[in-house]
Amino acid sequence: MALNSRAARLKSKREAVLGKRVPCPYREGDVVFILSGHDRGKTGPFQRYDRKKNLVFIEGRKLIERYVKARPDIQREAGRYKLETGVHVSSTAWYCHECSRPSALRRRVTKAPEDPSARADVTWVCRRCGAERPSPKRK
Ligand SMILES: [Zn+2]
Repeated sequence: MALNSRAARLKSKREAVLGKRVPCPYREGDVVFILSGHDRGKTGPFQRYDRKKNLVFIEGRKLIERYVKARPDIQREAGRYKLETGVHVSSTAWYCHECSRPSALRRRVTKAPEDPSARADVTWVCRRCGAERPSPKRK
């Protein structure tokens, strides 16, 4: 749940310098490693991505406390809430479940197409150990 937090509204120096929108590198089922900031060195499951601010929301990480009004229309009671603020993409890394450390993803062609203009079958694997990326959860 994202409210209008001051931290999220303020443009960080890094964003001002880069000023570029980065496509989301994660998907549901991924574990994200935080490289810097308050939660440095911690991991958490990927929640959602803010494409405009390049922020990765990680479950239970980078929490802020907010006092929130009741909203009966969405069945929310008033009170003190711990909410996730995003972590900038550039301070996150994909976390490998096999080698238990931050890593990166690499494409691996599983089946080369007979017709060279056709698309190859590709899976994403860990750059270090070659473990396959876990498939997203189906609901
Ligand atoms: Zn790995």
